[in-house]
Amino acid sequence: MTWKLSNPELSQQDLLNMESIFALGNGYLGVRGNFEEGYGENMTSIRGTYLNAFHDVIEIPYGEKLFAFPDTQQKLLNNIDAQTILIYLEGEQEPFRLDHGVITKQERYLHMDKGYSERIVHWKSPAGKEIKLTFRRLVSFTHRELFAIDVQIEPINFNGKVRIVSTINGKVKNYTNPNDPRVAAGHAERMTVVDAGVKGYDGYVMDETMASKLQAACVSRHRVDTADADIQIEAGDGEVTYTAAFSLTEAIHFTKFNVYTDTLRHGKELVEQGIQLQERMKDLSFEDLVNEQTEYLNLYWKSADVMIQNDDKLQEGIRFNLFQLLQSAGRDEHSNIAAKGLSGEGYEGHYFWDTEIYMFPVFLMTQPDIARQLLLYRYSKLDQARARAREMGHSQGALFPWRTISGTECSSFFPSGTAQYHISADIAYSYIQYYLAEQDQEFLLSYGAEVLIETARLWTDMGHYYNGAFHIDEVTGPDEYTCCVNNNYYTNVMAKHNLKWAAKSCSILKSYNASGFKSLCDRLGVTEDEISAWAKAADAMLLPYDEELGINPQDDTFLRKAVWDFDNTPEEKYPLLLNYHPLTIYRYQVCKQADTVLAHFLLEDEQSLETIKRSYDYYESITTHDSSLSSCIFSIMASKIGNMDKAYEYFIETARLDLDNTHGNTKDGLHMANMGGTWMSIVYGFAGMRLKESGLSLSPAIPQDWEKYAFRLNFRGRLIGVLIEKGSVTLELVEGDEIEIKLYDELVKLEANHSVTQPIHG
Ligand code: BGC
Repeated sequence: MTWKLSNPELSQQDLLNMESIFALGNGYLGVRGNFEEGYGENMTSIRGTYLNAFHDVIEIPYGEKLFAFPDTQQKLLNNIDAQTILIYLEGEQEPFRLDHGVITKQERYLHMDKGYSERIVHWKSPAGKEIKLTFRRLVSFTHRELFAIDVQIEPINFNGKVRIVSTINGKVKNYTNPNDPRVAAGHAERMTVVDAGVKGYDGYVMDETMASKLQAACVSRHRVDTADADIQIEAGDGEVTYTAAFSLTEAIHFTKFNVYTDTLRHGKELVEQGIQLQERMKDLSFEDLVNEQTEYLNLYWKSADVMIQNDDKLQEGIRFNLFQLLQSAGRDEHSNIAAKGLSGEGYEGHYFWDTEIYMFPVFLMTQPDIARQLLLYRYSKLDQARARAREMGHSQGALFPWRTISGTECSSFFPSGTAQYHISADIAYSYIQYYLAEQDQEFLLSYGAEVLIETARLWTDMGHYYNGAFHIDEVTGPDEYTCCVNNNYYTNVMAKHNLKWAAKSCSILKSYNASGFKSLCDRLGVTEDEISAWAKAADAMLLPYDEELGINPQDDTFLRKAVWDFDNTPEEKYPLLLNYHPLTIYRYQVCKQADTVLAHFLLEDEQSLETIKRSYDYYESITTHDSSLSSCIFSIMASKIGNMDKAYEYFIETARLDLDNTHGNTKDGLHMANMGGTWMSIVYGFAGMRLKESGLSLSPAIPQDWEKYAFRLNFRGRLIGVLIEKGSVTLELVEGDEIEIKLYDELVKLEANHSVTQPIHG
């Protein structure tokens, strides 16, 4: 399970992309795959270390600022840099680096089964001295604050003095690009060093953000396994430098343990806490850490792995995506999954609906504990969502922010930001899915119901009855090329589901725990009349339908617009958002991403299969897929309507999007939602999994080119193995008590030590 890149092209563009691809993280701490020694002069690197949710607050500059536009936004900060390790050979002024001497061989590996990355470099210095360097680095899954680097230096043709210089640098900046709206344009420098020093073995640097006044500290401890090393450690201007000089006669190891602490998770005395953590880990070797990582990952892959036989490229793609998802998911109430995970600065570390609709399902069905934690994050932001709803003129309910870190709205461009009210229904949807998967009434009582109730209240407040139907006006659906419309099909159908389940969860809780339910109603002021009003609005919800085309129009006016002139739009004008004013785009029928098609996936029972098929064809012809959130949904729906070739084509686009940089911006970080989408294309798409009130069901098919594929599902405490071969489907209960699930609409009983094999349909 190793991803290997041999002799990579060391072009500027490849190096930047590889920084994202080789990013390591554990949900708390993330480090880009930069080179310890840098790239040398005239080469750009986006050198990045991130603590999930560690941000500064910055003012949003507006030309014209109107009522309830957010004043400030949050920005994930590039944190203290502990990556640097420079290696000098005797008598030479220059360090080992790409632009000095010759790299005769270079290989990079991402060991996804062992949780570390490795870079092996054979280097000949300008004076002809040769060494082999092996850099291994890991961000620990079991010690969340730890980022460790191990370097092995092997002499090839010389014995002599070597000097290692390792630094911790607090003078860090964020990356900016004023020409790309997906990357920050300004505010690069938001951290100042408050302290840099040495205590015993440890060097430390502490920084503070300019406005949010959050602090972060990095405490580093070094080890060099040679007896005669001459070691110095000193604090300078905003950085600490550790130097070890020694004679190199045989291979030696140098390790650097960096421990990060921050105000959000550790409160005060960050340096002291960092030192304590170092003390606790003092007997651990790098090999011990690798063993711990392997153990952790064995458990992960046991439930999350997807096996694809006879297609190594796609196999690599899905495993890479699943590994990166695990590395990105926040595990505490402060953090969630940023659009780029912890691999880059695109979208400034913000959390979007990407989590609930694209990534949450993977965790729900493979790592329910992480899924639950993601829900708890949203719950912890409910008060801010209530406050935002008031600010937006709603007398009741909760409006979740379109993009955020700490819970308040960070979007300054409301047409494709705040107007995407559907995020509140998306969050509600994920609570409902959690309930359907886990049937955890206690969780529903303590958290889920409150979210469903407050979001339902938003819809009854903002929607209205017109000619007997419930309408929702002036919103933007997922498709950001069509903004501020009435009755967006996606928003309406998701709001309908939200309203229906707010009412339903009340009846579930009434029978589960009447007094608990009563106190919830008392606390939130819920009345029977209100519950009926939700059910009534759900029943009366307008779901636009066009008789002539037999499809669901994206909104009230969508089909009246002219169709975008695709034939005369040259390749280089895509993505459209970088080449046309938004108003130009809004005037046409052109979709950036799946919108109605996505609604047909999430709530397929709302329409007939014929309507779904016709809508798929219609929207496919006008969708650019300029958003990386699109192809996977088209893949799933192509599977649903029985077009396996198309499903496969779209799937291929998702599986290697970052590995092959097909969107051209992997350098800014990985496309996390798409990564979840790869898994969804297989599990919901090819294998036809659905989770509904009737339970879990599968309706598998197999792409033409595959011999077999397999995955596992975590469902109500069971681990279920699914193996799909050319002619058959085999289900196996790997763990847990017997259970019934549906296979092609027939119930099958899964029992321990007994697998069920049936012929594949279609
Ligand atoms: C997409 C949004 C998405 C955001 C962050 C945008 O390009 O249109 O749907 O939430 O990226 O990934």
